[in-house]
Amino acid sequence: MKTVYLDNNATTRVAPEVLEAMLPYFGELYGNPSSMHFFGGQISRRLQEARQQAADLIGATSGEIIFTSCGTESDNTAIRSALAVNPGKRHIVTSRVEHPAVRALCAQLAREGFRVTELPVDGDGLLDMDQYEKNLTADTAVVSLMWANNETGVVFPIEKAAAMADERGIFFHTDAVQAVGKVPINMEKNAVHMLSLSGHKLHAPKGIGILYVRRGKRFSPFMIGGHQEKERRGGTENTASIIGLGKACEMAAAKMEEENGRVRQLRDKLERELLARIPNSRVNGDRLQRLPNTTNISFEFVEGESILLMMDEFGICASSGSACTSGSLQPSHVLRAMGTPYTMAHGSIRFSLSVYNTEREIDFVIEKLPPIIEKLRNMSPFWRGDDRVRASQ
Ligand code: PLP
Repeated sequence: MKTVYLDNNATTRVAPEVLEAMLPYFGELYGNPSSMHFFGGQISRRLQEARQQAADLIGATSGEIIFTSCGTESDNTAIRSALAVNPGKRHIVTSRVEHPAVRALCAQLAREGFRVTELPVDGDGLLDMDQYEKNLTADTAVVSLMWANNETGVVFPIEKAAAMADERGIFFHTDAVQAVGKVPINMEKNAVHMLSLSGHKLHAPKGIGILYVRRGKRFSPFMIGGHQEKERRGGTENTASIIGLGKACEMAAAKMEEENGRVRQLRDKLERELLARIPNSRVNGDRLQRLPNTTNISFEFVEGESILLMMDEFGICASSGSACTSGSLQPSHVLRAMGTPYTMAHGSIRFSLSVYNTEREIDFVIEKLPPIIEKLRNMSPFWRGDDRVRASQ
């Protein structure tokens, strides 16, 4: 059975070109880039090239790029660094829809005595910028807002939010893990101070990330050890993965147009056809301010998990918005923050595409999913017993 992989916000396949670039660094080129000899030194030069490739993707300079182990480490480092260099300030501003890499850290920081404001979002997953502004106070040490949401793809106005924080002398961090490579990002033209990205979301391997720190901004390292990364992140470099990430960044820049053209069209076709063929379905999140590859669709009166299991039988991979976290079948915190009705939130599925998806695959999903939903609804007492729903068909 062929796999139809529509779960690229969870992780992406390593691009064959990326794998090819990495392989020598697992083999004959195994030197330590910190070594004095030529054998190690040549690796150091390749790391520098990868740093430049990554910098070029986001309009940064290579000195502003710190390699980390993942997006989570980048997020944790950024927020803890901002607090460490601002010891007099105790307030953090973030949103209710952040990834756990930010949200769980902020919950921990609240337990440590910091005051955390989690900004609400509206029904489309968008921020109220007036409320944001009101929460920027003299005591605010750091703002952390995601560039794009991993579940809905909704894009926040990060450039505007960063400028507002910068004017007030407040550190601004953005988790751009889902945005990099999908929307244009130019650090020369915005006021973001720190930005996180993760390799495995853009066709590089898992376990490699980047924290961008704007030149001249004070920084306090999280991982303390050797002199690597100019003493901003201790630990012998993950050489093969860094080189892979550099290649992936170069490719992402070249494929951005395809992402916003062909991939967006496939996503739109999938969305349009599913909504047309399946009654009582709707898209979660603003449809304009959104990543080109993501759609989060709710199918009322069915369980997301059941849909996933039945799609799995056809090799279709996606994600459910009602992840069975901690054993309770709670809808995702993102959909809850958006006030998505309970019967809709439970049946939500995130489809996230990549440049490797084809129209045939999308047509396959459009053919297979409607009967799955119909079958599940026929088993659902809520669906069968609700005259209002039947009348609306
Ligand atoms: N932030 C966002 C928005 C994400 O989607 C993810 C991964 O799903 C992360 C952070 C964490 O990245 P990593 O898996 O590299 O730790």
